[in-house]
Amino acid sequence: MTEVKPLADILTAMKSPESADIALVSKAYEFAQKAHEGQKRYSGEPYFSHIAEVGYSIADIGMDAQTIAAGLLHDTVEDAHIAEETIEQEFGKDVRILVHGVTKLGALKYRGMERHTESLRKLFAATAEDIRVLIVKLMDRLHNAKTLEYVPEHKRERIALETLEIYAPIADRLGMSVIKTELEDAAFPYAFPEEYEKTVDLLKERKNENENRLEKLEKDAKREMAAAGILSFRTEARIKGVFSLYKKLERKDWDITKIYDILALRIIVPTVADCYSALGVVHKHWRPVPGKIKDYIAFPKPNGYQSIHTTVYTGDGGAMEIQIRTEAQHREAQFGIASHLTYKEVQGYVEGTRGGGLEWIRQFIPLMRRTPVATPEPQERTAPQWVKELAHAHADNNQSEEYLASLKSDFFTHRVFVFTPKADVIDLPLGATPIDFAYAIHSEVANKMSGAKVNGKMVSLDSALKNGDIVEIITKPAGKPTRKWYDMAKTTLARKMIRQALAHPNKY
Ligand code: MN
Repeated sequence: MTEVKPLADILTAMKSPESADIALVSKAYEFAQKAHEGQKRYSGEPYFSHIAEVGYSIADIGMDAQTIAAGLLHDTVEDAHIAEETIEQEFGKDVRILVHGVTKLGALKYRGMERHTESLRKLFAATAEDIRVLIVKLMDRLHNAKTLEYVPEHKRERIALETLEIYAPIADRLGMSVIKTELEDAAFPYAFPEEYEKTVDLLKERKNENENRLEKLEKDAKREMAAAGILSFRTEARIKGVFSLYKKLERKDWDITKIYDILALRIIVPTVADCYSALGVVHKHWRPVPGKIKDYIAFPKPNGYQSIHTTVYTGDGGAMEIQIRTEAQHREAQFGIASHLTYKEVQGYVEGTRGGGLEWIRQFIPLMRRTPVATPEPQERTAPQWVKELAHAHADNNQSEEYLASLKSDFFTHRVFVFTPKADVIDLPLGATPIDFAYAIHSEVANKMSGAKVNGKMVSLDSALKNGDIVEIITKPAGKPTRKWYDMAKTTLARKMIRQALAHPNKY
């Protein structure tokens, strides 16, 4: 049995807190400890051990004192019958709103496909009020997922599936890759036990071999960087999550030799220019695998992720992935939106290399009400289109409460979340059509599209998709994009692909 995480550990994990912050968190810790007194978890541990872990993990990813306090108090209303008014009296309005949001999410349950969409809708609605609610909820779920072994069997599978189907995709959407991987790997063994065993066995077989190869690659990379005069850098090993490996194995017919990124080498440098210099050094020394170079710095992923990925032949018959990024990009890649809600940022601390793919998300942060910081113009290359549109639409009154309130809700309300028949969530701008959906899935499928079904019924290709729709694309071999499709498409991606297909009719 593990010990209850002490308050001192949480306070230490907080990044440069002020005395009022320490007081707030300490008070919340003691209040929750008393409120949950006598309650036990399935593991037999005091219920408060869960609370303390959640509070700690929120502090650990660098969140502000109010979010940590809300984490410590997140179960007091529902499980300890504390009135919300009491929370407000003792801890202030913001903490009350956060606890309320988390409580409202309460039992998000996975009960098959129909309920799944309902849960997601509820989640997005609650979160639109304050994105910090979602961070608390994710950390709550993470600790519950990590302690699944104690949960009675009949509940275990449902919680594991919910974690994979609802929470991990949300962590991914918010760019919190560390949390996403932890959620997936905690839930995987209980959601799909056989597949988990199979994946772990395959991984074990190749563990030593892969580790030796990575070690050599790391040593050589350090030497080559130094020889090229680049001295300010660090390296680290990236181990692919077990669930993520499983999904890739499924796509590669379970041939593990076709997967080059089970282990990857990361090279972390101070500036973007250094990233390209490092790429030069890497490609000069190792021959890159054609078609495997991805420049997510110039073209960030939709969730803001930035890095250069390349796979190189390592000279031993195999290949391995190398990821190159700046320190700021590294921090964002790990904690996504949370990396923008940290003390440092709130207090106006500006780091030399800051300003990466998630810069735009600052606009959704209610904390900015307290600390006015000049809102940077969303960067042309990094802000998703919908964020830019939003920012420009409201540019005239951009300091008002109203503006901030509308931005907060726009984060989700200007998007529709629809599903593939296999329940993957696809995130599209409002007004998106089945054409946008098809290109978001796969351009080869989209180019052969002949029709679309929404919730089991055929629809015209220009119908606007709604939250929770299940969309199925019908294809036929002779299917072909038309000029009309171009006019009906809302997303830049779909338009770009259709334009290409129209320009080269024989290629598609
Ligand atoms: Mn909880």
